[in-house]
Amino acid sequence: MNKTKKMPELLVPAGNLKTLKYAVEYGADAVYIGGKKFNLRSLGNNFSVGELEEAVNYCHDKNVKAYITLNSIIFENEIKTLKKYLSEINHINFDGFIISDPAVIKLIKIYFKNPNIHISTQVNVTNSFGVNLYKELGAKRVNIAREIKFEDLKKIIKNTDIEIEVFIHGALCISYSGRCMLSKYMAGRDANKGECAHSCRWKYYLMEEERPNLFFNIVQDNKGTFIYNSRDLCLLPKLDMLVNAGVSAFKIEGRMKTENYIAQTVWVYKKALEYIKNNEFDENKKNILMEELSKCSHRNYTLGFMFLNDYKELEDNGDVGYVKNYRFVGLYNGINEKYNKPEILVKNQFKTGEYMEILEPLKMPVKVKINEIIIIKNNNDFMSNTANPNDIVILKDIGNINPYAILRIKV
Ligand code: SF4
Repeated sequence: MNKTKKMPELLVPAGNLKTLKYAVEYGADAVYIGGKKFNLRSLGNNFSVGELEEAVNYCHDKNVKAYITLNSIIFENEIKTLKKYLSEINHINFDGFIISDPAVIKLIKIYFKNPNIHISTQVNVTNSFGVNLYKELGAKRVNIAREIKFEDLKKIIKNTDIEIEVFIHGALCISYSGRCMLSKYMAGRDANKGECAHSCRWKYYLMEEERPNLFFNIVQDNKGTFIYNSRDLCLLPKLDMLVNAGVSAFKIEGRMKTENYIAQTVWVYKKALEYIKNNEFDENKKNILMEELSKCSHRNYTLGFMFLNDYKELEDNGDVGYVKNYRFVGLYNGINEKYNKPEILVKNQFKTGEYMEILEPLKMPVKVKINEIIIIKNNNDFMSNTANPNDIVILKDIGNINPYAILRIKV
């Protein structure tokens, strides 16, 4: 089928209003958010009905789309509550509904006029027949399973005329995305109801059944054994190939992530899309952007199933603890009138003499040396060599900064 090439939408997670604003300011084309019910992050902050409305209005004011996740599996005894919830939110002008259970597809058409239905990764659609079946059911978009190969992705896009969305960045499950019972068995918390306890990330020992209190170490690396733990997905090096293949939306994982993580990843992928659009996405640019991504807290990256031939990289799950190359040290906290300078809310300790990087929306990061810290304390301001978490400080070495600036220091 004929398609005109266009740049994919950058779709970004937001766990609360504050993170959502960072996502929008750093360049998201669309955000996805969850209400207090029926989404797969039931342990996150999530949005009350009022907050959902506020979030959607904020996005629309900034010309950004807002999708709601309603992608948990629905049991018969939940249908009544689901209907009630849909009736509570059906005055909100969502741009799309991320759904996995067919019951929600059916009901959403009753409670919303002409809803844009997006099929969740939870459904694990792996072929064009599956995509077109969901089209017949009214879907406008399908998030294709992370487990497919790139060659298959291209064929799927050729064989459908609805939108294909691809996860490009974030945590991976060791199971087919989300379809996992590990957490339910180990902790009684059902990942399919949004309660995942991340049991795949735990450290495991060997125990013989007759000796229940004797735990034998299995040494995978010097930190222990994490046999189910997966690396994090990062498709940045292949992003141009995905654009050329005709992917409609690039999705970042992480509704539980901080504003710092969201700002940095969105900054990187927004820049990458700009480079691709201008035919400037060469190896040098890729390296610069990968360097930026290495500044977010992450597990070692993988290209996932889509671009790996022998899955060696996926099998190699040694050393998959978090890599933290930078510490997030502060956020903008408004303008201090006395000093006519931005106040900084300190998130992690820093000292004079350290070099701080300032990341702002759509600008290259800049580095400054911190020579002077003034702690603001109810008109008893004082100089200090150290800023501690929750201090409000003035940094004379920093000029005016964007209200959504992220301050970080190399560890
Ligand atoms: S336990 Fe791990 S593999 Fe299972 S759903 Fe949770 S994150 Fe995914």
